[in-house]
Amino acid sequence: MPSEEILGVARLIKGAKKVVVLTGAGISVESGIPDFRGPDGLWKRYSPDKVGTITSFLSNPEEWWKMAQEIAPVLFNAQPNLGHFALAELEKMGKVEAIITQNIDGLHQKAGSKKVVEVHGNVRSASCVECRKKHSIEYVISEVGKGNYMPQCTDCGGVVKVDVVMFGEMLPEEAISEAYRLAQECDLLLVVGSSLVVYPVAALPGMALNRGAKTVIINMEKTGYTKYANYHIYGKAGEVLPQIVEALKIL
Ligand code: NAD
Repeated sequence: MPSEEILGVARLIKGAKKVVVLTGAGISVESGIPDFRGPDGLWKRYSPDKVGTITSFLSNPEEWWKMAQEIAPVLFNAQPNLGHFALAELEKMGKVEAIITQNIDGLHQKAGSKKVVEVHGNVRSASCVECRKKHSIEYVISEVGKGNYMPQCTDCGGVVKVDVVMFGEMLPEEAISEAYRLAQECDLLLVVGSSLVVYPVAALPGMALNRGAKTVIINMEKTGYTKYANYHIYGKAGEVLPQIVEALKIL
């Protein structure tokens, strides 16, 4: 029998007209991709000032691509976990309108979710920082694999950067406008695996709350929005989300 907390969340989902999900790095930890700020987070090994900012990338792209080569196999070989699959199932059941994700790993789509808004970009392509020409990720991987840690634009020779948003860069306009719209229109926002400290995404729960939406957080740690949430379930996304799906089925 599901716990009262799980049943409570399932009841909220059942009663809501428009459920939007906001995910962060935490949902992919059980797929083997470390998050940034959790205990085994990436920032414990690589300083954000060194590898996470657009300024650091532009000042030394070669060093950045060498680091990326270490991380790439983990990202590209990762498979969705039970948490991703549960969210895809909720969408199929007509219970979830869309997922807004800060993740760049593409695991929601791999799990079968259709409406995914990627506010921090993704690793499926790369672009020239000079002329913006798009390059396939296969081109970049093959260059880096050959030991060319300075993949260059085939048109203008500029440096090529993967299409993920680094600190100091603008967010893709269309995606962030869509995220704002979804947060303002939903009547239930379900936040999964995010520390809610990276702006402007961290403002989305506030937007939803201001419009009267209910909020549920599934995260291993407390967040700045925990005190406003109808429920905060402290647990692993891959364990909690399937239980919510099962509870919905029996309601
Ligand atoms: P974050 O690292 O700041 O926070 C992750 C949160 O998830 C933490 O509070 C942690 O306690 C929680 N968590 C860890 N494992 C969990 C689990 N199994 N179930 C539930 N919760 C769990 O991540 P963020 O808020 O997404 O912000 C960081 C930035 O990191 C984002 O911009 C994102 O683009 C980027 N990022 C993405 C990936 C990815 O694509 N998988 C990985 C690392 C970082």
